[in-house]
Amino acid sequence: MGLTAQSSGLAAIDAGLRIRRSSPEQRVVAIGGNPNVGKSTIVNALTGLRQHTGNWPGKTVAAAQGSCQFRGKPYTLVDIPGTYSLFAHSAEEEAARDFLCFGGADAAVIVCDATCLERNLNLVLQTIEILPRTVVCVNLMDEAEKRGVKVDCPRLEQLLGVPVVPASAGRGKGLEGLMSAVEQVSRGESPRPPRLSYPAAVEEAAALVQPFLEGLPSPAPSARWLSLRALEPEESWSASLRDFFAALPGWPQAKVAALQGRALLYQRGLTPQELQDKIAACLVEAAGNICAQAVEAPQDAASSSDRRLDRILTSRRTGIPAMLLLLALVLWITISGANYPSQLLSSLAGWAEWQLDGLLDSWGTPAWVTEPLVHGMFRVLGWVVSVMLPPMAIFFPLFTLLEDFGYLPRVAFNLDHCFQKAKACGKQALTMAMGFGCNAAGVVGCRIIDSPRERILAAVTNVFVPCNGRFPTLIALITLFFLGGQPGPGQSLLSALLLTAVILLGIFMTFLVSRLLSATILKGVPSSFTLELPPYRRPQIGQVVVRSLLDRTLFVLGRAAAVAAPAGLLLWILANVTWGDATLLAHCAGFLDPLGRAMGMDGVILLAFLLGSPANEIVVPVMIMAYMASGSLAELSLPQLHQLLLENGWTWLTALCTILFSLMHWPCTTTLLTIHRETKSLKWTLVSLLLPTLCGASLCFLTAAAARLLGAV
Ligand code: GDP
Repeated sequence: MGLTAQSSGLAAIDAGLRIRRSSPEQRVVAIGGNPNVGKSTIVNALTGLRQHTGNWPGKTVAAAQGSCQFRGKPYTLVDIPGTYSLFAHSAEEEAARDFLCFGGADAAVIVCDATCLERNLNLVLQTIEILPRTVVCVNLMDEAEKRGVKVDCPRLEQLLGVPVVPASAGRGKGLEGLMSAVEQVSRGESPRPPRLSYPAAVEEAAALVQPFLEGLPSPAPSARWLSLRALEPEESWSASLRDFFAALPGWPQAKVAALQGRALLYQRGLTPQELQDKIAACLVEAAGNICAQAVEAPQDAASSSDRRLDRILTSRRTGIPAMLLLLALVLWITISGANYPSQLLSSLAGWAEWQLDGLLDSWGTPAWVTEPLVHGMFRVLGWVVSVMLPPMAIFFPLFTLLEDFGYLPRVAFNLDHCFQKAKACGKQALTMAMGFGCNAAGVVGCRIIDSPRERILAAVTNVFVPCNGRFPTLIALITLFFLGGQPGPGQSLLSALLLTAVILLGIFMTFLVSRLLSATILKGVPSSFTLELPPYRRPQIGQVVVRSLLDRTLFVLGRAAAVAAPAGLLLWILANVTWGDATLLAHCAGFLDPLGRAMGMDGVILLAFLLGSPANEIVVPVMIMAYMASGSLAELSLPQLHQLLLENGWTWLTALCTILFSLMHWPCTTTLLTIHRETKSLKWTLVSLLLPTLCGASLCFLTAAAARLLGAV
C-alpha cells in the first residue's frame, strides 16, 4: 500500500493508508476500538459513508474513511481495524498501530463498549501512550443502562487524563459531544494523561533510551512509547517501526542505549521476550484499577440470560444441532419466501422484454440488432434478476440479523474443534459463512486469519460452500427431481432439508480437503486464537435490512448482472451461428458429451458450467438455451423446465450429478482473481481451481458408475 508522506518532516513511513488532505486545515481523526463496539456506526453516522458494519471479529480489516464538517471545519475520519491491543501480533493490530503511530492523525477516538469497559481500557491505555491526543468514546451506553452498568464518565476522564464522551451511536446520541471533544484535542489542546508506571527495571531501562527520542516533530509517537519499543527484541518490530527508527537522526545513539537497556533488564532477570508480558500485565492491572473507581456493575453483569442462551447455542451436545436447525430454518424461509416474488419478477421481465421488442420494432430496428439485444442480453439478465434477487433479498438480511445478534462468533466456537482436527483455524468457520453470500467475499474475509498457512487453507477451500449464485440451481433441481415438481409450502421445507444436506456435504469436504492439504502441501500445526464471544444484542432490524440490501444484495446482484448481459450476448451468438448443420453451441456440447455422460451428466451441462465461469448464475440459462433448439431463451415456469429437461434425457442421476458438480467445481472467475490477489501466487490459484474440480468430477464419476452398476437408472 501507499506511503503516508507527513507534514512533520519525519521520514515517510508506510502506515498502510494514504490520507489525502484537501486543505491544510483538514483534520485527520483515527477511529479505533475493539471489534464490535460501534466504530463503523459512528463513522457512518458522522460521515454518511456507506460501509459494511457487522459482527465479524476484525472485519474492518481494510480501513475505511469518510469526511464531515464540524463547526465549519473539515474532518477526515478513518475507521481503523478493530483490535484488542496494539502489540502488533496480528495483521489488524499491526495495521491499527501503524496508522496511530505513523498515519499522521491529528487525534484518535477510541470507541469502547460501556458494558465491558475494563477489557476495552487496555486498548485505550496503549493508545494514549502512543498518541496523547485521544478522546475516549464510551459507546453502547443504552445497553449498559439496560444491564444496570453505570459508567461515571467525569471520573473516568479524571483518571485517564483525556476527554471521555458517553454515546449511544446506534441511536445517534452523543456524537455532537464527541466531535466537540475531537475538535478540542485536534486543536492542540493536548490532554496530559497520567503516566503508567512499569516495574522499576523497565522504567530504568526506558529512561536510558528516552532522551535520544525526545522532541521529535509532531505527529510522531510519544518518546516514552518509542523507548519501550526500542527495548523489545528487534525481530518483534513491525517493518514500519524498523523503518521509522532507522530514519531518525538520533537513532545510532538510541540504539546503543537500547542495547544497554536490554543488558540492564537481563541483569534484573528480565528477558526482552518477557518485557512485553510485564507491560501487558501492568496495562491489565491499571485498567482494573480505573474501572474499580469509575464503573459500577451489578454482580452479574454478564447477563445470566446470555449464559443460559450460550448453554444451548455453544454447548457440546446442543451447539451443533442448534446450528444445523438454524441453517435449515434460514434456508426454508429463503426458499418458501422467494417462490412468489421470483414468479412475479419473471413475468415482469417477460412483459418488459415484450415492450422492448415492440419499441425497437416500431423504430424499424433490424432483426440482427433486436435479436441478440433483446432475446440474448435482456433475457439472460431478466432470468438472473428474477431468480437471484428474491432469495438474496431474504437470505442476506436473515444472515445479517444472525450476525448482529452475535451468533456468528459462536459458529466459529462450535466448529473450532472440527477445524482443529482438520489442522485448520476455527476462524475459518466465519470465512465459510461469508462464502454463503459470495465466495469472493469469503476469500477476502480470510484476512482475519493470522497464520499464512491457515489463510491459504481457508481461501482454497472456500468454494466448497455454495454461494448465492449456485443456490437457485440447487433449489430448482432439488425441487424438480427429488420432490416431484411444483413448489409448495411442504415442498419448500423438504427442499430446505435437502439443501442443508448438500451444504453439509460441502462442509464435510472442506474439513476433508483441509486435512489432506495439511498432511501434504500445507503441512503445519494449527495455531491457537482468541475469539471473543460478544454479548448477545437485539439486532436493529431497520438498519440490518437497509444495510444488507444496499451493501450485499445490490452489490452481488450488480456484479452478476454485469456478467449476465455480455454472457447473454455471447450465448445468443453461439446458439445462433451455425457451422455445417448445427449451431456452435451444439458443436461444443457434442464435443463434451462423452465426458459429460461418463460423469452422469451430458455435454450441454458441462458446457453450461464452462460458460457459467464468469458467474454461476447463468448455468441454468445456458442449459435452457442449448436444449431449446429455438436459439434463444424462452420464459419458463418450473414445470415447463422439468418437461424440457426430461425430454433431453435427464433422470434423477443427471440431477444428482449436476447438484454434486454445482457444489464442487472450479470457482467463478471473480473468486479466482480474488484468490490470486490475496495469495499473490499462481500455484495456490491453480490449486483452488483444480481441487474442487477433481473432487466434484471424481464424485460424479463414482456416483454414475455405481448407479449404472446397480442398474438404478
Ligand atoms: P465495529 O465492529 O466496531 O465497527 O461495530 P459496528 O459499528 O459494526 O457495530 C456493531 C453492532 O453494534 C451493530 O449491530 C450496531 O448496530 C450496534 N451498535 C452500535 N452502536 C450501538 C449503540 O449505541 N447501541 C446499541 N444498542 N447498539 C449499537
